Amino acid sequence: MRPEGFVGSLEPGWTSGVIIVGLRAIVVGAGVAGLLCARELYRAGWEVLLLEASDGIGGRVRTDVVDGFRLDRGFQALFTGYPAVRRQIDVKALKPRAFDAGIILVEGGHWHELADPWADPKAVVPTLLSAVPTAGDKRLAMRLRRDLRRKDVREVLGDGHVAAAQFLDRYGFSARFIDLFVRGVFGGLFFDPSLSFSASSFLFEYKMLSSGPAVLPAAGMQAIAEQIAADLPEGAVRLECPVLRLERSGDRVLGVQTSREGLEADAVVLAAHAPEAERLAGIPLPKEAYGCTCLYFHVPCPLYGHKKVVVSGYQDGFVHHAVELTNVAPSYAPAPEHLLAAIMLGAPDMGLEELAQRTLDDLQRWFPWRRLRDLTPLAAYQVPFGRLALPPGFEGCRLSSRAGALGLYLAGEYLEGNSLNAALTSGERAAQAVIEDSAKSRA
Ligand SMILES: Cc1cc2nc3c(=O)[nH]c(=O)nc-3n(C[C@H](O)[C@H](O)[C@H](O)COP(=O)(O)OP(=O)(O)OC[C@H]3O[C@@H](n4cnc5c(N)ncnc54)[C@H](O)[C@@H]3O)c2cc1C
Repeated sequence: MRPEGFVGSLEPGWTSGVIIVGLRAIVVGAGVAGLLCARELYRAGWEVLLLEASDGIGGRVRTDVVDGFRLDRGFQALFTGYPAVRRQIDVKALKPRAFDAGIILVEGGHWHELADPWADPKAVVPTLLSAVPTAGDKRLAMRLRRDLRRKDVREVLGDGHVAAAQFLDRYGFSARFIDLFVRGVFGGLFFDPSLSFSASSFLFEYKMLSSGPAVLPAAGMQAIAEQIAADLPEGAVRLECPVLRLERSGDRVLGVQTSREGLEADAVVLAAHAPEAERLAGIPLPKEAYGCTCLYFHVPCPLYGHKKVVVSGYQDGFVHHAVELTNVAPSYAPAPEHLLAAIMLGAPDMGLEELAQRTLDDLQRWFPWRRLRDLTPLAAYQVPFGRLALPPGFEGCRLSSRAGALGLYLAGEYLEGNSLNAALTSGERAAQAVIEDSAKSRA
């Protein structure tokens, strides 16, 4: 056990055999939360070692390059309006390619272009002409947008914790609008078509969508993780190094046991996803999550021209939403090819061939003017633990970054929500707690 007041050691250091004297932190998990926490600690003068179980950094934000196609492990986008993205990410350096605001809703072979007219003036006429939102829905959507611009989410929501579906109904939106538009966009965003997530998380995302464009980094979503990791010193990240358990003495955590060795640290930050953080820390954490399946197709010539996601309005639909990624970021495919992502919510239990066939049969209804025989499936990703469920009231149970044992901290999206904003914020908070505690113990 380390003596009182211990602040460093003269054992061979973690980074390429260098001798290190100073404060050491181990961060478990090189997802966005872990990377950000490690960067904050490193900037504050800590020696940091990031231990990652898999063969790459990014966690749920990884990109595979297959024959020149950039395949994110599940379609996702960076919301540039997120406060933590503004604080921590150099979006410009990612060479962002922006989606146009709004979506296309396809129903009965008809395409409805729906957008916030202020965010995308091109879409004013089609949105106004569309019959999906009633005149009342359009008025309410404007009011909600205006309220969210001026007020805090909590003020707009009022008292009480309700699910998004209930809030929208009470606000006065038509059942058809909720069913088609909200279920399409936000059900797809949260992977939860029942809209059972909290109204406050819905309102937060709604506000974020009108606070800045959603973008794809030219090199794929993993570029976000790589940008953060680029500020860490060489050797700070160890891949394929799962942490098996924590080393404890009484109520203090002294380090970790990996599959290779035992490592000591002044602070251990668990930045693994919630079920694994719960196992390691031995404390209950929120871990109910929704998943999705993303199937990528090589498309020889474009299916449609918009820089928008197409959402299914079919009651019996198999595909929930699809997007021709190369309309937004041509770099996602080798020129002159195109890349389509089709997203199903949950994890259909079938092989790639059947999945591709069911997907194409469904998509054929969306694109009746074009035979889809020339689409070739490239890869499918099933992500059962995609986004954390955020039930009404989750905000009131926000967990501390301090995990109940001395020297042990938590980072991870589940502390704040279920997005990149949440992951980044949790990383900031964990680093701050580590720094504050160490300053207190030395005072
Ligand atoms: C398909 C999909 C689409 C999404 N879409 C969006 C979107 O459009 N916008 C948005 O903002 N968010 C989106 N999200 C959510 C967002 O990706 C996550 O909230 C965020 O990436 C979570 O980051 P994290 O660091 O908290 O956790 P993770 O990314 O899960 O990172 C945890 C890391 O810990 C590692 N690990 C686990 N156990 C151990 C261990 N024992 N030892 C060492 N390492 C370990 C894991 O391998 C992993 O690398 C989406 C997620 C998915 C899956």
